[in-house]
This record gives sequence, structure tokens and C-alpha cells, in this order.
Amino acid sequence: MIKLENIFKWYNVGGTRSFVLKDINLHIEQGDFVSIMGPSGSGKSTLLNVIGLLDEPNEGKYYFMDEDVLALKAKKRAALFQSHMGYVFQSYHLIDELTVYENIETPLIYKNLSSKERKAIVADMLDRFGIVGKKNLFPSQLSGGQQQVVGIARALAGSPKLLLADEPTGNLNTKQGEDIMELFKQLNDEGVTIIQVTHSEKNAEYGHRIVNLLDGQLKDI
Ligand code: ATP
Ligand code: MG
Repeated sequence: MIKLENIFKWYNVGGTRSFVLKDINLHIEQGDFVSIMGPSGSGKSTLLNVIGLLDEPNEGKYYFMDEDVLALKAKKRAALFQSHMGYVFQSYHLIDELTVYENIETPLIYKNLSSKERKAIVADMLDRFGIVGKKNLFPSQLSGGQQQVVGIARALAGSPKLLLADEPTGNLNTKQGEDIMELFKQLNDEGVTIIQVTHSEKNAEYGHRIVNLLDGQLKDI
């Protein structure tokens, strides 16, 4: 499903290249559940952003479902993201001007669904995540953990084939975090490919495979 080949990402800082990803090679099959671990600043979010088509490497090849995605025009890339991927952001990235309900509905706008179908899916998400009572609130009226839950509900609303989750339980309490991990396990059993970034050893073990990013370089554990 995913093939990253010789991926390099750098920023030009003060006239020199500051490398964030160094020669990343990673193959992920459909149905995999991969956990990415590594110290803060090692490039985990950057790697997830590259996989999620939200950031471009400076060098290397990326094939997603056999498509050479870096060769695609921005519009086609966005369409690929919208039809196959769900993304849980480390810092939520909810849309401030939209209510909880509308945030969760966003990925559905790009799908060919009637408003009745969209309504049913959002209602199901609100119910599943225990946030029915919050549906008309705006992100600024929610706690960090609640925003994280809304971010997860939004990522899953479009029934993505690939779920990318950056510290999805970072702001949740132990019980909520376990519930989310159990949900991910269930989704993966149903065929969803999952790539998660986590600092938690316990959460990482939900994955079939743990990879470690150290200073921009991948090491299989
Ligand atoms: P954390 O665990 O804290 O979330 P991370 O592993 O996700 O860390 P990234 O967010 O991918 O780390 O950042 C990797 C490195 O890239 C950091 O050293 C960061 O400073 C650097 N970086 C990110 N964006 C830029 C930028 N626009 N310019 C220069 N350096 C950047
Ligand atoms: Mg990060």
C-alpha cells in the first residue's frame, strides 16, 4: 500500500541543510498496524505528514497504492487523501469556526453522500465517542482531550482505508486512551491499515510492527 524509497527531508537553516528525514525506506502492506516511536524532534510528525500527503520530501520516491504521488498535481493528491486517508493530528487541527458536528462532517463533504447519509454517520460518531452533548460547541469551548476525541471522530467519519494518527491518546486519560487503542485494534481487524505515532510503549504494542525513528533515521525494533 505504501512504499517510501530513499526519502530525505531537510530545511535550509542559516544557509545549511538541517536534515529531518534521512534516507527513509519503509514498506507498509494493506492491513498492517505500524507504531512509530522515537524521541521528541526525531521527525515522527514529519514522516507521518509525508505519508499523509501533507508535506513533501526534498528527495525520494513515494508510492501510495502504486501511484507515484509526488508526481501528482496538488488537486489529485488532495483527492487521494480525501478518498483514502483519515488523519488524527498531534495538535488536533480542528476548524475553529465550525462546530463539533460540522468538524466531524468535513471529510464527508468530499464524498458523494446525501445530507441524510452524512447526518446518520455524524450521529453515529457523536454517539460512539460519547460527545452528543457537545455537538453544537466550537473547539475553543472544549478541553484538550475532548478536542482530541473530536479529531479522532473526524478522521474516522469518512471510513478511511488508511488511518494516520499522531499521538492520538496524548491528551486522554488512561481509560479513554485504552478505549481508543481497542477501537483502533477493532478497525485494524476490520481491514483498516493504521500508522500511529506514540510515546507509549504499551500503545505501541497494539501495532504488529514497531519502528523507531532516531535522528531522522528508521530502525526496525
Ligand atoms: P515530537 O515528538 O515532539 O512531536 P517529532 O518527532 O514529531 O517530535 P517533528 O515535528 O517531525 O518531530 O520535527 C522534526 C524536526 O524538524 C525538529 O527538529 C523540528 O525543529 C524540525 N522542523 C520542523 N519544521 C521545521 C521548519 N519549518 N524549519 C526548520 N525546522 C523544522
Ligand atoms: Mg510530533
